[in-house]
Amino acid sequence: MRFLENESLKPYNTFGLDVKARHFVEIESEKELVHFLLNHEWAKKPLLPLGGGSNILLTKDFEGTVIKLSLNGKRIIKEDNDFVKVAISAGENWHEFVLWAIRQNFGGVENLSLIPGNIGTAPIQNIGAYGVELKDVFVSLSAVEIESGQVHYFTHEACEFGYRDSVFKRANKGKFIITEVTLQLTKQNHQLKMSYGAIQDQLKVDSVSEPTIQDISNAVIAIRQSKLPDPKEIGNSGSFFKNPVISNGQFAELKSKFPDVASYPNGQDHTKVAAGWLIEKAGFKGLKRGAIGVHEKQALVLVNYGGGEGKELKALSSEIQEKVKEIFGISLEAEVNIL
Ligand SMILES: Cc1cc2nc3c(=O)[nH]c(=O)nc-3n(C[C@H](O)[C@H](O)[C@H](O)COP(=O)(O)OP(=O)(O)OC[C@H]3O[C@@H](n4cnc5c(N)ncnc54)[C@H](O)[C@@H]3O)c2cc1C
Repeated sequence: MRFLENESLKPYNTFGLDVKARHFVEIESEKELVHFLLNHEWAKKPLLPLGGGSNILLTKDFEGTVIKLSLNGKRIIKEDNDFVKVAISAGENWHEFVLWAIRQNFGGVENLSLIPGNIGTAPIQNIGAYGVELKDVFVSLSAVEIESGQVHYFTHEACEFGYRDSVFKRANKGKFIITEVTLQLTKQNHQLKMSYGAIQDQLKVDSVSEPTIQDISNAVIAIRQSKLPDPKEIGNSGSFFKNPVISNGQFAELKSKFPDVASYPNGQDHTKVAAGWLIEKAGFKGLKRGAIGVHEKQALVLVNYGGGEGKELKALSSEIQEKVKEIFGISLEAEVNIL
């Protein structure tokens, strides 16, 4: 365990925002976490669990205790000819895990290549990209209840996964710290997901006719690198807003006014509208305002060019929400956790 006071969080959030944590503790095991929660005076302050800091907008200094989760390790807990179950500690980096899985020829997470952040955070918003979501490979997780220090076990059903959503964003928000996640991957007969046109186009560019999981991962990485800013170069948190899901009736009305609206079917009765398209049409794409702005290639990504402040980004996000509502009658919901 490592204890620090008045620690700058700049290296710990991908927006690169320079705010301070009054108390900062780094935890390396579940046992340490339980011990800290039950015994340490800093555990009585407001708590902020922190993974890779890639889905968080810090608008001010945090007056409580940041718990940096650095629990590492992974183990195979079951396998047969077709499937393998792997339990991974919360502090492992997500993309490093994906690369490890591909090296073992374990399939299922290749479409989720290059998503920043840690394993322990992935279930919270049910991370997803290119037609795959965490829930597709998820088995269970362990989490420590903050109030009691007790370790709880959550099945797939108990997590109540939805689009960028789970029970940890609703009824259990702020109540648990996830310590380990178990995933099931395929060892053969991999179910490749290539319905996204961008993946098919990239495989053509790469001259791949019979793709492997490695080829899909390479394609996803190439697509992401071509259109998303690297947080190491420009501070950002990926998609700032969720893509709004509206009824087919509401969508028909929208399409009659805006025939080129970008959208995807979402079940039988609903349509998912591309939030990036709405923001671009509202005139924000490429906007620069002092040190912050909206990315020039992807309007869904708000950026800190360096030296910007969280409260400026929050104000810009509210302005975008208001304008989109005024023009299209659609409410945008933040995907990023604003603090
Ligand atoms: C360039 C870029 C691209 C991205 N692309 C995608 C994408 O394609 N799809 C996608 O779904 N997401 C994407 N994201 C968002 C982000 O990568 C994911 O949400 C990721 O799961 C966040 O992980 P993290 O460890 O960085 O979370 P953090 O930012 O550290 O934490 C997020 C929230 O979870 C809480 N938390 C953290 N760890 C724990 C824990 N162990 N237990 C309980 N609570 C915890 C924090 O308090 C905070 O509220 C992208 C982000 C960036 C910067």
